[in-house]
Amino acid sequence: MSSGLSEKNEETCIICNQVKTIGIHLYTSFICIECENDLIKTTTSDPKYKYYLNKLKKINTPQIFS
Ligand SMILES: [Zn+2]
Repeated sequence: MSSGLSEKNEETCIICNQVKTIGIHLYTSFICIECENDLIKTTTSDPKYKYYLNKLKKINTPQIFS
């Protein structure tokens, strides 16, 4: 069970869908540092903002529609 070398945590970013080791956790989801930085730079008038928002919506949606 000892895989040794490093303790890097590989997780899949919910925005770019790539496996990354550095990023932040938002609830149960993971966002890589690149996407996080991108997100910060994106203004609400940027078309990309909608795209991100859509992705983020998935995180922010607990089971309230029951
Ligand atoms: Zn990412």
